[in-house]
Amino acid sequence: MKISNFEDERVHVLDANSSVWSVIRDIAESGTQEEAFYVCDIGDIVRKHKIWKSAMPRVEPHYAVKCNDSLTVLEVLAALGAGFDCASKTEINKVLSLGVDPNRIIFANPAKPLSHIRHAGDVGVNTMTFDNEVELHKVKRLFPDAKMVIRIRCDAEIAQCQLGMKFGCDPETEAPHLLQVARDLGIDVVGISFHVGSGCRDPPVFRKAIAASRKLFDYAASLGFHFSLLDLGGGYPGGHGTSISEIAEIVNMALDDYFPDPSVHIIAEPGRFYVSSAYTLACNIHSIRAVGTKDAVTGNPTTHYMYYINDGVYGSFNCVLYDHQHVVGIPLKEFSHSKLYSSSIWGPTCDGLDQVVEQTLLPEMQVGDWLVFEDMGAYTLPVASPFNGFPIPKVHVVADENVWMLLKDILPLTEDHFVIGNIPASLKKGMDVNRDEDWSLPILPITITLP
Ligand code: PLP
Repeated sequence: MKISNFEDERVHVLDANSSVWSVIRDIAESGTQEEAFYVCDIGDIVRKHKIWKSAMPRVEPHYAVKCNDSLTVLEVLAALGAGFDCASKTEINKVLSLGVDPNRIIFANPAKPLSHIRHAGDVGVNTMTFDNEVELHKVKRLFPDAKMVIRIRCDAEIAQCQLGMKFGCDPETEAPHLLQVARDLGIDVVGISFHVGSGCRDPPVFRKAIAASRKLFDYAASLGFHFSLLDLGGGYPGGHGTSISEIAEIVNMALDDYFPDPSVHIIAEPGRFYVSSAYTLACNIHSIRAVGTKDAVTGNPTTHYMYYINDGVYGSFNCVLYDHQHVVGIPLKEFSHSKLYSSSIWGPTCDGLDQVVEQTLLPEMQVGDWLVFEDMGAYTLPVASPFNGFPIPKVHVVADENVWMLLKDILPLTEDHFVIGNIPASLKKGMDVNRDEDWSLPILPITITLP
């Protein structure tokens, strides 16, 4: 397998003194940058993989491609040996184009268009989910040898995005009937999947879902099925300051209690866990309205600032509408001891809906200042549109030297597999930025070739 298709086919390698923030500063303050841009840190994705493997060693991650389908992400995860959860024919093709074995893909969409089922059969993606009877009849007609996974419903009490209203059959009242139908049709059902809700804030729900799965495994055995797969779905948080350790502890204990047999293959479909914190977005303030208002506490006259930035809810911040994310704009410039003002942040389009942050406190910013938004890797770029002619931000990919070493530890790579150039001085913290440098051009090529 060859890893060479990064967005711009290049990765900026950081030295020990550089960071995502120093790169953002260098680009933003280059004097030529106006458009919003992302910095994607591959190291963050690699670190997440290490965290996952040590937190839940028995659970094989199948990254949910829908969350961020950038080639950078897919290639790094493919190289690290992750599997993939695809929702469509196009996602399947994208993953297969990287040389990933079709057995490492689960087609985890319980309601699939006909041609997509046929296509999965054609390319050898055999494992797919269902939660209704019609799907079984479609599969019987289009891909009778498919290995089906029944998706049950078990909703977290608190989640950023609930999914149970659309997908998942009731494990008690619907699943037994569906398994009987599958048996009568001669369809091979091999396991169970669930998704407790994206951005789950109810870790114990995983135990409930695993316990319900155990019951259904046993019922399936009574019908003559031999289930061998349990898919724990997504829901794992991934932003700065979040942790999967509580979920992991609950999952590991529940697996020990309900699925001690190591021959049961346990997978999960994490999306935001892997990519959320890897992407940081920098936006430029291009317009400002100062509105006279009254202080909410004192009633004294004060000013509310409306900042207009060059990415909004039709672009990256669609996550505010669709993914219910609360984003925080951090000034790139340092303001020590500045007075904070009531402020709101707006996108660049002419739509009144295009509001990024309704109410926040910021120092008084100027046109040309930058606001930085962390945790922008999940459910942002794949949904963004250039509505009103505002482009989707370009992604600059970075990796630090430690990650380089880490990749070599995880993978059977040698130094010969990398093509290394010189690290530009401008990427070293504390050095002057070369004003003539074209930051839109890739700087350092890396080619990782796996044997
Ligand atoms: N699997 C399926 C079937 C999904 O629909 C989703 C998200 O919608 C995911 C996995 C990823 O979920 P998360 O990003 O919460 O891990």
